[in-house]
Amino acid sequence: MNRRDFIAGTATGLVVGAAGTYAALKGGKQQTASGPAVVKNKLEWRMVTSWPDKFPGLGTSADRLAARITAMSDGRLTVKVFAAGTMVPPLGVFDAVSQGSAEMGHTSAYYYQGKSKAFNFFSAVPFGLTANELSAWIHYGGGQQLWDEGYAKFGLKPFYCGNTGVQMGGWFRKELKSLEDFKGLKMRMPGLGGEVLRRIGATAENTAGGEIFAALSSGRIDATEWVGPWNDLAFGFYKIAKNYYWPGFHEPGTGFECSINKAKFDALPKDLQDIVATACRAEAEAMLSEFNRHNGDALKVLIEQHGVQLRRFPDDVMTAFAKASNEVLAELESADDLTKRTYQSFKKFREEAISWAKLSEQGYLDMRQRTLRPNG
Ligand code: CA
Repeated sequence: MNRRDFIAGTATGLVVGAAGTYAALKGGKQQTASGPAVVKNKLEWRMVTSWPDKFPGLGTSADRLAARITAMSDGRLTVKVFAAGTMVPPLGVFDAVSQGSAEMGHTSAYYYQGKSKAFNFFSAVPFGLTANELSAWIHYGGGQQLWDEGYAKFGLKPFYCGNTGVQMGGWFRKELKSLEDFKGLKMRMPGLGGEVLRRIGATAENTAGGEIFAALSSGRIDATEWVGPWNDLAFGFYKIAKNYYWPGFHEPGTGFECSINKAKFDALPKDLQDIVATACRAEAEAMLSEFNRHNGDALKVLIEQHGVQLRRFPDDVMTAFAKASNEVLAELESADDLTKRTYQSFKKFREEAISWAKLSEQGYLDMRQRTLRPNG
């Protein structure tokens, strides 16, 4: 009997299989006194998310990750996705998984910066890393170890599982003429970007994605950022605010996480742990590719069908963003120990990334723009 046949015949409950063939719970042999291995071999996990059901790019990525883990494990670890609000509120994912009321969550770390400012670095920080750079720092630059350390305090094991790429600056009802226009402005912006806005005179709040449209249309907020053309088109912000600003200084490549209850993860057999890790790694690539595939055509729809005005932030605004961002990040040097060490690791990596990007991505993109589309 091969492994697949064996698993196919052991869909639920306690199963008696050939001695020494396979033991799902610990990935090794689990022989009884009488010889045959006793296998309890099917786990069903709940993945709570911060996204509306099947929301493009984010909800669909969670669905795909769940399906990938289920398929790769041949059903031994079946993951069922719960959209925001069906089991827990959109920003309640971290606590739900930490407490074990769900085994897995699909969300982004900066929503939980109230627990530690260090968590921002695993999502996005102002003037931070691009998608490629964030992946490099997490996987090869020490980021994962810091993330593991920070989340272990809450009984969680985090995996990087996606990225939106560079985000847009956001939707504004009125055109911004200068920095003065941020005074008193109420804007939705999560993470440290929100703190930067406060430094330049605005107020910022962290509204969950599915609640932004109502906040914007009621006038409770004057402006919002979300992600980029594809996602923002889906939420319909163009119906309220026509001025679409770039670039997104606050989220140059936002990372997403599959966080897992650590006790549940540690109890998995090694092969299922590897399947979860590998599925997350694969899905990280899939999410970014999908965003890059759809943002360009969604941008055309926004401009050509919905009359959206693309606008670059005024120079004095970008200068103020940079100054305030530097201040906000520098203050993390005196935050808690984990945040300080995470910031220092990030800062060192960013310095090297800036030097390399100038010659590589940035150098190439500048050349491509100048030579192929010199007029924009
Ligand atoms: Ca965003």
